[in-house]
Amino acid sequence: MSIGIERKRLEQLKKELNFHNYRYHVLDSPVISDAEYDRLLVELKTIEADHPEWITPDSPSQRAGAAVSDKFNKLAHPHPILSLANAFNTDDIRSWVERISKLDERVLNAEFVVEPKIDGLTVVLHYEDGVFVRGATRGDGEIGEDITANLRTIRTLPLRIPVEENGPIPPHRLVVRGEAFIYLKDFQELNQRLIEAGEKTYQNPRNTAAGSLRQLDSTLTAKRPLALLTYDIVEADGPIPRKQWDLLNYLKAMSFPVSDQVEFCPNLEAVIKACEKRKETRDLLSFEVDGAVIKINDLELAASLGFVGKDPRGAMAFKFPAREVTTVLNDIGVAVGRTGVLTPYAILEPVEIGGVIVKQATLHNFDFIAEKDIRIGDRVLLKRAGDVIPYVMGPVIDARKGGEVCYKPPSVCPTCHEPVEHFNDEVAWYCVNAACPAQLVRNIEHFVSRIAMDIAGCGIKIVEQLIEAGLVKDPSDLYGLKKEDLLNLEGFAEKKADNLLEAIAASKRQPLNRLITAIGIHGVGEVMAADLAKKYPDLEALSKAGQAELMTIEGVGPNIAEAIVDWFSVEGNRQLIRKFKQYGVWPVSDISTSKPAGPQPLDGLTFVVTGTLPTFTRDGAREYIQKFGGKVSESVSKKTSYLVLGENPGSKLDKARELGVPVLDEGGLRRLAGEKA
Ligand SMILES: [Zn+2]
Repeated sequence: MSIGIERKRLEQLKKELNFHNYRYHVLDSPVISDAEYDRLLVELKTIEADHPEWITPDSPSQRAGAAVSDKFNKLAHPHPILSLANAFNTDDIRSWVERISKLDERVLNAEFVVEPKIDGLTVVLHYEDGVFVRGATRGDGEIGEDITANLRTIRTLPLRIPVEENGPIPPHRLVVRGEAFIYLKDFQELNQRLIEAGEKTYQNPRNTAAGSLRQLDSTLTAKRPLALLTYDIVEADGPIPRKQWDLLNYLKAMSFPVSDQVEFCPNLEAVIKACEKRKETRDLLSFEVDGAVIKINDLELAASLGFVGKDPRGAMAFKFPAREVTTVLNDIGVAVGRTGVLTPYAILEPVEIGGVIVKQATLHNFDFIAEKDIRIGDRVLLKRAGDVIPYVMGPVIDARKGGEVCYKPPSVCPTCHEPVEHFNDEVAWYCVNAACPAQLVRNIEHFVSRIAMDIAGCGIKIVEQLIEAGLVKDPSDLYGLKKEDLLNLEGFAEKKADNLLEAIAASKRQPLNRLITAIGIHGVGEVMAADLAKKYPDLEALSKAGQAELMTIEGVGPNIAEAIVDWFSVEGNRQLIRKFKQYGVWPVSDISTSKPAGPQPLDGLTFVVTGTLPTFTRDGAREYIQKFGGKVSESVSKKTSYLVLGENPGSKLDKARELGVPVLDEGGLRRLAGEKA
């Protein structure tokens, strides 16, 4: 390469790397893979090694991290928070040790510690007299962002170092370095909850952890399952261990979380073995790693070796091969979840990532496809981490040939072909057909539940059995069940069949509000159902109500009104209503006796609720009491009128007895509110 071309390439690399650095560290929204970034950086460092006179202070090789965002206060680190040089194979590890043993031959007999290289966010934690006082992100390595309030929300972070008998007494001033991250299991649970709530899912644990820590509202951070592991002391004004292995145990003894994946290695061969084993078993870990960190155990020896550029010579990061590849997106499929949420997934040209053939990957949600402008036929960047379902990171725009096709979300459910619905405040699309086979188990389960039609003895096992046998295709089919149908099912004898049929028949007498709850209109819970039943005598009347009319009911906003109208416009649901009527499941509410305006039955009374109530959730009970004019308080006092008692009550019952506060069960509460038994 001629000098001129090389120089030009260097400038281009600097520009590109600075851009990607900003995307990754400041915006938490990388557009290339870590592996691609590393390749560019290696190329830059190679050119700079040949031409040290070209190295400028603005070169990405000269800084450890990112620019600081202006949203948080800045916090200077007591010492630079350094990153490590990378080794990509075991030969790199051997030549590192060979290089540094020439500087100090004690390295030849050195011990090492191998630690997981957690794919999270580095944090710096300041303690004064054992109390956590400040914490920062790594920032550019010199100055980070003050995220103290957010760090405090991490449950494993010690807010005060406990001083135990025979335990270490923390130095007056102590600064600890650690990594904040999210366990894979917690990440999957978090996304599952978001899917069910119709909200946007997160793309990967690392970005979620980073985004959570840099939330300006720390109450949002508190809702994220952030975890922490510590591994270094940046500064202390008292004596601290001089060996890394002892230091980890010292941190542990002070109640800092330390990984159980740390390993003492008596020599270089043990290090090589440990690294190779970790590469093979990375999927078994409960968090994402992108490698292992190798540290010389003797911290004074390590420090005496000094630096090459900004990288300390006494430690090395062993990087695992990236779990990122590109492949062609052949099509986009849509799955219907148990709650009716439609989720898109990628149908891929099969490709191998880390020893696994991947044919499908998640596309998160329809907004993600639109935001990233993912088109069918695109070459897409794919990532796999642990056992998490592989996910598409985005399209490779440069690889477009022109034949790629833009994607439009489906207008009908892929399972039942009924129109899908979108609710204003949610990103998800839903199938709202109560008879949709993809959601049938869940819909029936809800229909028979205690808060709805309350059909005793109809547990999920039986629901699944009935659906599998083809006996129940929508909730109304329950009322057409015959004894001989049930006797053909496994585990059903005379008695059990009779009991179930009796419970089903008895549920026909449930009031209208329960039937409205049972049909499961999005956003319509028990309290709202009760309000609707006061205004409309039966399901048919409710089905004819327009959006504007529904909105005259207190608590019914435009979204719920729209959800109600949409639900009754689905043909499958209209047929369901007709079938209920045929089966005699047709409760009629007596709207003429609905309570006139005026004093409410629970006016002036204060209630405390404890334990699990038979049909109300805790919030449901609160709304119910408030609706009838009562007040709800959290703790029992002399001012409490009644304690509403459910199963497994807490200490509130003792307190009520002590103060002589009368106790009610749920039935008592309902009678007090004027409900007929
Ligand atoms: Zn459907």
